[in-house]
Amino acid sequence: MIDLHTQHDRCGHATGSLRDYVTAALDRGVHVLGLSDHAPMFASEEDQALPRVAMPKSEFPAYLAEALALKAEFEGRIEILVSAEADYLPGATEPYRRALSGLPLDYVIGSVHMFEGRDIFDTTRWEGVEEAELPLVKARFFRQVAASARSGIFHVMGHVDALKGNHPVLGAVPAPAATDEMLRAIRDHGVVMELNTSGVTKKCGGWYPEPEVLERAHHFGVPITFGSDAHVPERVADQYEEAVEVLRAIGFRTWTVFRRGIPRTLPLA
Ligand SMILES: [Zn+2]
Ligand SMILES: [Zn+2]
Repeated sequence: MIDLHTQHDRCGHATGSLRDYVTAALDRGVHVLGLSDHAPMFASEEDQALPRVAMPKSEFPAYLAEALALKAEFEGRIEILVSAEADYLPGATEPYRRALSGLPLDYVIGSVHMFEGRDIFDTTRWEGVEEAELPLVKARFFRQVAASARSGIFHVMGHVDALKGNHPVLGAVPAPAATDEMLRAIRDHGVVMELNTSGVTKKCGGWYPEPEVLERAHHFGVPITFGSDAHVPERVADQYEEAVEVLRAIGFRTWTVFRRGIPRTLPLA
């Protein structure tokens, strides 16, 4: 059992310490746990640009040190991978590339949270958006994810259709060309897509991405991994068994995990 996407209280909007997530993972029977809190806003001038979104830049070394210490402490009982979930901000990738290179990270999750200037989960962003525009909005979002895959900064693409999180109608909106472009970009740049079960905590209620995107990903040979995106320790590996069942039915047989940036497959079970 794996879970490569978990947060903790440093980001300002999750609860529990790193140790709480490790303990929860042990209780749940997780074998490989990724500690992947929101990375600081590296492109900002300020130490902590958004206190309820991500930890201060000055806190990042302490985060890594604590995660590495837990990895050593729990060796032999659970494999802890040290990671971070970083924002993909078009036009501001260099501060991230610089800040994340040369660190003892196993992998970096790249996520689009800010899209066209606004938080994707901000419900007010959809006011006044016509239904007819939605396929174009979704296509632009997928193209931004594709660009993040091409950036070379990330190993895992986080919640690739999270745009639907608080605007569920977007889940079923078709954007076939942009979907295929995104999936090819992920595959061709050695990146992995996560099945993220945290949609249950938003209005959309399901997983990221939609089943149709998972099927298309299998068709294109996109490798996959699992992330609960737990913001409370109780959600570690949430719906893991259901995810395995759905992915096996589609045809996936392996998870991909990263150790110091090197991909390795594990049986999907
Ligand atoms: Zn978060
Ligand atoms: Zn995220």
